[in-house]
Amino acid sequence: MADKRDYYEVLGVSKNATEEELKKAYRQLAKKYHPDTNPGDKNAEAKFKEASEAYAVLSDPEKRRQYDQFGHAAFGEGFGGTGGFDFGSFDMGDIFGDIFGDLFGGGRSRRANNGPMQGANLRTSVRISFEDAVFGTEKELELNLKDDCPTCKGSGAKPGTYPETCSKCGGKGQVVYTQQSLFGMVRNVQTCPDCRGTGKIIKEKCQECYGTGYVASRKKIKVGIPAGIDSGQSVRIRGKGEPGTNGGPRGDLLVDVEVSRHPIFQRQDVDIFSTVPISYATAVLGGEIRIKTIDGDVVYNVKPGTQTDTKVRLKDKGVPTLRNKNVRGDHYVTLVVQVPTGLNSEQKELLRRFDEALTGKRSDTAEAENDKDKSKRKFWK
Ligand SMILES: [Zn+2]
Ligand SMILES: [Zn+2]
Repeated sequence: MADKRDYYEVLGVSKNATEEELKKAYRQLAKKYHPDTNPGDKNAEAKFKEASEAYAVLSDPEKRRQYDQFGHAAFGEGFGGTGGFDFGSFDMGDIFGDIFGDLFGGGRSRRANNGPMQGANLRTSVRISFEDAVFGTEKELELNLKDDCPTCKGSGAKPGTYPETCSKCGGKGQVVYTQQSLFGMVRNVQTCPDCRGTGKIIKEKCQECYGTGYVASRKKIKVGIPAGIDSGQSVRIRGKGEPGTNGGPRGDLLVDVEVSRHPIFQRQDVDIFSTVPISYATAVLGGEIRIKTIDGDVVYNVKPGTQTDTKVRLKDKGVPTLRNKNVRGDHYVTLVVQVPTGLNSEQKELLRRFDEALTGKRSDTAEAENDKDKSKRKFWK
């Protein structure tokens, strides 16, 4: 394989180009080298493909990250095997629709039409508990799924009859208009209006599916939810979306995960935060306390003289990372010293005596001595 040019270089943009800059650069190159505007020019075609490949990768944030990290190796020999660029894993229909929609007027019609097409993706959501998000779980979802109609085997035609080739497009599913435009003669390809791109016309419809070729039924699907998932992330289940057309594969099911709040734990990425009250005596004298963690209670030794709002880190007691469930975040605990309230007279007396021992003064005289403090206390009463 010849040395491939750097994608950023191909598009003539900097490494930190914005999405807008990428699009603009690609649009200019595509306009210049598009096969429709350069019929028969192999060099232009190669340039067009090169720019399209670069844009397909860089316009997809995930693929761009892979490219930034691994370079061409992210998509080349190591992955595909052939060494060629696999456009199949990119939704070029979307890219072309986006870029050429206004440029050539064709928009999405540039998609292959009566060839095998993958079915649409389905989207659903699931709510899971805080603990399930931390440790992973399996959920059973019930949803309506389309399947090929068993009566007509997905053709949509009444049994014994067959869909006929569309006469308007000759079964191609698309009609071509030639148009004079800014870039010279432009072939404008559009989805056939008669057969809506299928290339076939059904004269007698199947009774069971009303000619759609599909029947929907309520299905139960198990979803494995990985440990470490967070709200807003989704799980992709391959092949559980809408059925494909003309023998294309099914789309995927995307399950958006919503994690419920926990009464005592807060989560930030892979770290957990909580607040634990400790008594005044424990703060002063030190001692063992139990701290609730996602793994159960942990015994912690409070140091004598611990101040309120002291932060404690419990290493590896946080949330597992999605990549490796054995790598976990930490649990940060804020120790809050409780000021006792509602003391009875005996307890108050003990505390007064404690204060005397601490300051060397009788606390009632201490109070009398400090008029400023006293008036303040009265004011707040
Ligand atoms: Zn049917
Ligand atoms: Zn047609």
